[in-house]
Amino acid sequence: MDLRADFLVIGSGIAGLRAALSLAEAGEVVILTKSDPGESNTGYAQGGIAAAIGADDSPELHARDTIAAGDGLCVPEAVDRLVHDGPRDVRELLDWGAAFDRDADGRPSLGREAAHSVRRVLHARDATGREITRLLWARVSACARIRLLDDAGATELSIEDGACTGVRFVRGAVDVGTATARRTLLATGGAGQVFRETTNPAVATGDGIAMAARAGARLTDLEFVQFHPTVLNVEGAPRFLLSEALRGEGARLVNEAGEAFMTRDDPAGDLAPRDVVARAIVREVERTGTPVYLTLAHLDADFVTRRFPTIARACAHAGFNLARDRIPVSPAAHYLMGGVATDLDARTSIPGLFAAGEVACTGVHGANRLASNSLLEGLVFGARAAAAMKAAPQPAALMVGELIDVRLPGRASAAVPTAYEVRDLMWRSVGLLRIARGLEAASAQLDAWLAACEAAGGARRCDAELRRTTTLVTVGWFIARAALRRHESRGAHFRADFPARDDLHWSKHVSDVLHT
Ligand SMILES: Cc1cc2nc3c(=O)[nH]c(=O)nc-3n(C[C@H](O)[C@H](O)[C@H](O)COP(=O)(O)OP(=O)(O)OC[C@H]3O[C@@H](n4cnc5c(N)ncnc54)[C@H](O)[C@@H]3O)c2cc1C
Repeated sequence: MDLRADFLVIGSGIAGLRAALSLAEAGEVVILTKSDPGESNTGYAQGGIAAAIGADDSPELHARDTIAAGDGLCVPEAVDRLVHDGPRDVRELLDWGAAFDRDADGRPSLGREAAHSVRRVLHARDATGREITRLLWARVSACARIRLLDDAGATELSIEDGACTGVRFVRGAVDVGTATARRTLLATGGAGQVFRETTNPAVATGDGIAMAARAGARLTDLEFVQFHPTVLNVEGAPRFLLSEALRGEGARLVNEAGEAFMTRDDPAGDLAPRDVVARAIVREVERTGTPVYLTLAHLDADFVTRRFPTIARACAHAGFNLARDRIPVSPAAHYLMGGVATDLDARTSIPGLFAAGEVACTGVHGANRLASNSLLEGLVFGARAAAAMKAAPQPAALMVGELIDVRLPGRASAAVPTAYEVRDLMWRSVGLLRIARGLEAASAQLDAWLAACEAAGGARRCDAELRRTTTLVTVGWFIARAALRRHESRGAHFRADFPARDDLHWSKHVSDVLHT
């Protein structure tokens, strides 16, 4: 199957759908998405979307909180765009009919989340992503100039004379096709599946990062992986996210003895930044040898079940009453701050190739993302990507920061691993607490596995399992290398052997470019 369009969008989350709606004003659009259209990180987002629309808020205050969470590594111009375009783009969603919760006076009700200094999170109960997906999907479906192909996984970027001209893709196991366009947008989302414990759905394997890397695009800041502190920790049950909005509404973290331990680690207590809370949980579990819990028993039970119906249902399914019981929690990989390097208009280092949303790295989140800023990022930079893609041809983006040339490892010295082996290694050695010896061993193992995957045909083969494993190994390989070389702790990247932030040497972004 060979498809042609003016614009090609890979992925149907908030970034891809928002971009497609604007692109359709200027030409024919094809969206490829590798599963059902609604299967994306966006579809699972709970807490909400941040925007400075409250009477006590301003873009400047939102920028200040974003930059504080980013721990010295946010790109100020990117933050500026996020917080200034954000209110306009969120109001557009409201105009389109987004069913966000409202106060008694009819204004959008604003939730509080960790490290936000005011209430600024618009939400649709605790299933905000589902509502945004419904809304955008309804508009995309009604647009005659947009064609969406589901179950269509892009496997490789097509590059001619140094520029991107589209992708190769598979449908099911056999149907290999090409999609050709003047401009291509990667909106493939994150890579949580690289880790054994994750909040991300099965589609989040970092495909866009792996494809862009193989085409020679610049990748940046891949060491910065956010681990969410609170997922349901029940043996054998999925790692269901227990949104930060719970703590925003008063939920507390307690140990087995019922002590609220968070104030020992940070004056902000339960509303400290995610990395601080996640590490405090790990330390408390190590200290006591018993689990850590989230409790809402001191809050009004009616309010809890009305405000968090989806989470209450998931807890009930696992045998817990959210309003009454202590819920066992632990951290899990949640969000990738790094990604395909882009400028403020989503241009990558390859002409014709754009990237927006979680797959991209504009530097807007720095070393740590502020809660509820990623839906906003997808919305704002999805729209900005579309504007740039519609404009006259432009050169590839110019980007700053240190650049490292990397090569694929040599001869295969190991068998092709299972996906579980890769995810387990990443969780144990490249997870929340990192140290040189673990990172070195993991990098060596990933070298061997990547060589084995390449020798077996890698991501280009029609074998779905091999493709998935190769992608996980490739993305894990980049993350481990980046984590090993950053000799400091900053934001979500914590090195037990370099526990302090080192602004003298590491106040910088580092990029990789792969030469095959
Ligand atoms: C459980 C959970 C809760 C969250 N809660 C919040 C929240 O409350 N607020 C907030 O701001 N953020 C939240 N986040 C993060 C946020 O949801 C994501 O960062 C954001 O939705 C990413 O949007 P995106 O459009 O970039 O990617 P996604 O929404 O992940 O979409 C990626 C799309 O690309 C497709 N795709 C992937 N690979 C390929 C391929 N090879 N070929 C074709 N298609 C492909 C996928 O199928 C999917 O359709 C949450 C994330 C999770 C997992």
